[in-house]
Amino acid sequence: MIRNERDTISNSLWTATANPAPDCPPLSGDTDCDIAIIGGGFTGLSAALHLAELGRRVVVLEAETPGWAASGRNGGQVNPGLKEDPDTIEQRFGKDVGGKMVALSGGAGQFVFDLIQRLDISCAARQTGWIQPVHSAKSEATVRTRVEQWRRRGAPLRMLTREETADLLGCDAYSAAMIDQRGGNLHPLNYALGLADAALRAGASIHGQSRVTGFEMRGDHHLLRTEGGTVRAAKVLVCTNGYTDGLISPMRQTVVPIRSIQVATDILPHEIAQQILPQGHSASDSRRLLLYFRKDAAGRFIMGGRGDYSDKGIRRQMQALRDASVRLYPVLRDVPWKYAWGGFVAMTQDHYPHLDLVAPNMMASLGYNGRGVAMATVLGKVMADWASGTPEAALDYPVTRPRPIPFYFMRRPAVMATVAWSRFRDSLER
Ligand SMILES: Cc1cc2nc3c(=O)[nH]c(=O)nc-3n(C[C@H](O)[C@H](O)[C@H](O)COP(=O)(O)OP(=O)(O)OC[C@H]3O[C@@H](n4cnc5c(N)ncnc54)[C@H](O)[C@@H]3O)c2cc1C
Repeated sequence: MIRNERDTISNSLWTATANPAPDCPPLSGDTDCDIAIIGGGFTGLSAALHLAELGRRVVVLEAETPGWAASGRNGGQVNPGLKEDPDTIEQRFGKDVGGKMVALSGGAGQFVFDLIQRLDISCAARQTGWIQPVHSAKSEATVRTRVEQWRRRGAPLRMLTREETADLLGCDAYSAAMIDQRGGNLHPLNYALGLADAALRAGASIHGQSRVTGFEMRGDHHLLRTEGGTVRAAKVLVCTNGYTDGLISPMRQTVVPIRSIQVATDILPHEIAQQILPQGHSASDSRRLLLYFRKDAAGRFIMGGRGDYSDKGIRRQMQALRDASVRLYPVLRDVPWKYAWGGFVAMTQDHYPHLDLVAPNMMASLGYNGRGVAMATVLGKVMADWASGTPEAALDYPVTRPRPIPFYFMRRPAVMATVAWSRFRDSLER
């Protein structure tokens, strides 16, 4: 069970099958460092690791425990790329900046798998490829364009025929799919714990149960306050994504936290498990309200999708995910479902992650729009580059200033309306 979380979303498969967590005691007393990091998910841990490896004195302050939030709860799907396709990114940001964003996001999956191998992290990582099955003729055309644009840049993507799609998924619900061989899947909480362990070994300090409750500028330094003490740092990295609180005023209004939920079976009997995603791929389909599914290393089936804000709505949607699973894979009809959990992803208005300078010598990276396994890891590294002296213009991702979303107070009704509208449009495109 995820500690300090509401019951409806706390029964996590990843928590139940986690490796032992490294010791991260709460901050006690006053300390001094080069770079302080707020938040211990993939972003903060990747930044801490890369900075500690450069010999910087780093302190991570995490409100709960490393990997407690989205990083320890997600689908573990390593999906390269951004929401928009490479040509669009280069048109929108220009050939130079856009080209760097395409290269960074396209290489993000490989970066994760290389890091896991280099650090020998035990997290069941498999670079089997990521499958995006299409749900309509319109989405097939979109996905074909995606494949064509990435292939032009030398990336290993291709379209799968109906038969190949059925073979790799183990079901015939989709007429075609794209496979991106740069992607794959992993055990997300064990990946986060492995990053934390590696950062500690490299010399970083990580403090759990150490929520930052206030900060102030003292000369050219920041002073961060927690219940147990203070941290004085020349630079601060804010890595709080969908769990961003009101600590730094404009930040909260730059992302909309959306609940994503998952349900999972217990270990499936071998004869059932081998019929579903028989080669260990993970898939997330092309719907606006997408379904994402995979098996874990032991052969449990996991299905994820959009959640709700209320417990009643969450329970209803968890049942809808179990029903959708049985529609895809009728062999799951009588299988018991053992786990159900969820967390917040952070959406941005423009669907791009933001690397924001939120105050002097204080940078935030957030808004992965549901693609944080790969992107949070690489943007953690980009923040480490910035904190260790790389000029803004030389970074692999553009630095912006926080842009609060207009009418932020309307976000929940706006999300509900968008969900309803997206469901309706998905239903028209069968
Ligand atoms: C159910 C679910 C499924 C998902 N599936 C996928 C997937 O399959 N593939 C994919 O690529 N992405 C997926 N995502 C998204 C991905 O998990 C996130 O984008 C990524 O984990 C973000 O990492 P992060 O480190 O930025 O934030 P988080 O992991 O959310 O960490 C933020 C941390 O900040 C801490 N914090 C907040 N405020 C403070 C404070 N004041 N002081 C100290 N600490 C603070 C929080 O406690 C938290 O631990 C999914 C997300 C969810 C919830």
